[in-house]
Amino acid sequence: MPLTETTPSDKALVPFVSVDHMMQLIHRVGLHAMLRGIAGAIHDDFLRWESFDKTPRVAAHSPVGVIELMPTADDRQYAFKYVNGHPKNTREGLQTVTAFGLLADVDTGYPVLLSEMTLLTALRTAAMSALVAKHLAPAGASTMAMIGNGAQAEFQSHAMMAICGITHVRLYDSDPEATAKCAANLAGSSLVVTACRSAEEAMEGAQIITTCTADKRNATILSDNMIGAGVHINAIGGDCPGKTELATGILHRSDIFVEYPPQTRVEGEIQQLGPDHLVTEIWQVLAGLAPGRQDARQITLFDSVGFAIEDFSALRFVQQKVQETGLALPLDLLADPDDPRDLFGMLMRANPEL
Ligand code: NAD
Repeated sequence: MPLTETTPSDKALVPFVSVDHMMQLIHRVGLHAMLRGIAGAIHDDFLRWESFDKTPRVAAHSPVGVIELMPTADDRQYAFKYVNGHPKNTREGLQTVTAFGLLADVDTGYPVLLSEMTLLTALRTAAMSALVAKHLAPAGASTMAMIGNGAQAEFQSHAMMAICGITHVRLYDSDPEATAKCAANLAGSSLVVTACRSAEEAMEGAQIITTCTADKRNATILSDNMIGAGVHINAIGGDCPGKTELATGILHRSDIFVEYPPQTRVEGEIQQLGPDHLVTEIWQVLAGLAPGRQDARQITLFDSVGFAIEDFSALRFVQQKVQETGLALPLDLLADPDDPRDLFGMLMRANPEL
């Protein structure tokens, strides 16, 4: 840990969860336990939805991608995530999505945890998908079509197995190498994995259809005629203005569930619909205030874009696991003058001439 010799040993240090620590943490806790734990934390926080400060994320768009800040707070803790979305990155050997974020104490305003969130975003997105599918997927769902087999895909598959009891995953990606990678990574799991040559083939017999592709345009990953009665669609990849995955006809035949309407109306599949189109906020379903799936022929659609409270919940869960395991680096992030108003005096501690 690169603390300088000017850092007193009793200084308040902020735990930093590096990528390496997050990898160790996931193995220590167990992938499925981690996914269930994060889903539980999201569930608990969504039940107290009204106690959070909520705002649509702040997005900086460029022709090739987006950089977003996602803040939220309750009366005790504040969190934000920095996240990007650059579909062209993989062609350059970079990831489409990278992220980091922090938790802070509302009482003092001091950060209490800084964490990598690229892995954590994959976990929390998967946990959220499965938590929602548990309430919306048809009873006894056992097969998922996973369309888009990039960085998120294995996490999505594991979460549907761990939380919803999915036993079969049918994979499709326009790049067969992505499907081969995903199938190889899932080979050690108890999932029955089938690599498919088209989205239509992947959807054969699937009760849950997850779309998780990355393309900065209004794509048609699912066309209207591909969707029959009774399925649950988990649409993850359309999460920016001008970046969608579903044909509009599907939206008109579905009951649509969203995280936070002011954000989803701008970023989600429903940007293709009028501003008054009826949607249900998923927290209301979790809280028993609105119905989830009501009949076997209903098409349910989770128009997922990712909301700040999910990151808050995931960070809260990680903070607890860091306290249990010690898997973090102490980071010298906070100034600590002897007299709080003597910041200049603190600077003099490092004066080489003294
Ligand atoms: P990725 O780039 O690693 O993978 C995307 C995959 O989609 C690639 O393998 C690509 O070949 C495939 N693809 C592109 N166009 C396709 C098409 N027409 N048909 C089939 N496959 C196609 O990206 P990722 O990290 O897995 O993220 C996937 C998407 O999910 C991104 O758009 C990202 O912004 C979004 N995302 C959403 C959330 C959320 O909370 N809703 C969270 C994380 C990521």
